[in-house]
Amino acid sequence: MHFTKAKGILSANNGMNIYRGCTHGCIYCDSRSRCYGFTHPFEDVEVKENAAELLEQKLRSKRKKCMIGTGAMCDPYMHCEEQLGLTGRCLEVIDRYEFGVAIQTKSDRILRDMDLLRSINEKAKTVVQITLTTYDEELCRIIEPHVCTTARRVEVLEQMREAGIPTVVWLTPVLPFINDTEDNIRGILKCCVDTGVKGIMNFGMGVTLREGDREYFYEALDKHFPGLRNKYQYMYGNSYEVSSPNHGRLFRIFEDTCRENGILYKPDESFAYLREFPEDKGYSQLSLF
Ligand code: SF4
Repeated sequence: MHFTKAKGILSANNGMNIYRGCTHGCIYCDSRSRCYGFTHPFEDVEVKENAAELLEQKLRSKRKKCMIGTGAMCDPYMHCEEQLGLTGRCLEVIDRYEFGVAIQTKSDRILRDMDLLRSINEKAKTVVQITLTTYDEELCRIIEPHVCTTARRVEVLEQMREAGIPTVVWLTPVLPFINDTEDNIRGILKCCVDTGVKGIMNFGMGVTLREGDREYFYEALDKHFPGLRNKYQYMYGNSYEVSSPNHGRLFRIFEDTCRENGILYKPDESFAYLREFPEDKGYSQLSLF
């Protein structure tokens, strides 16, 4: 990893990346795509060492409280967070200023910050988003090799439920001929129902591939699924959208299960939920002025 002093931390939509790059090694990682303009190897994580200070400056000057998002691009709980605790320090700032947080990860390291997540949720709102792609533990170790597996992530969801912290699951990507089976989708959906998730994000049963991401993915296919690269190239060429041949059937199962269990399943509704700041909370700070 290497350190940098960032000039800014919050995007126009109040999202932030504390780190750039990731060590979790997911074989399908879109963040590797060339369009993001990484100038360093993806695993040589860039640490925005002044992230918490920049965030504090921003939150202090905001006139209206809102949800702060993190984890959309790079996981905030990858390995280096263990020593650096930078995500934890940013959560402390969010807690102190009584903003909300919508945080996305695959790692159980998030449990280390449980007290902060609970405190933010009491004062404003916390939403924890966990990605689940496969119900098969062995497959999970192959496609997401350097982070805890699905069973442990489900335990995280369960602990959030016990703490009264709402959760959203990202059921994506669904890789053709790898995890696009009915058993797999039903298995993940059962975990979501059992842990009482608020919403499930899915943009179609497939994956997106583009320059940078595609090459890395194909190398992983050659290593773990010999012959599958040729099938992908034959069926999809250089398409950005790579949809499962089982898309229709799997998507119906997904929609039906969500509807039956009162789970948000339209991406717009889940995104609206993540952005929505509870208006009846979080005004103690502003009322001082
Ligand atoms: S956790 Fe996210 S950012 Fe990290 S390698 Fe996996 S997909 Fe990429």
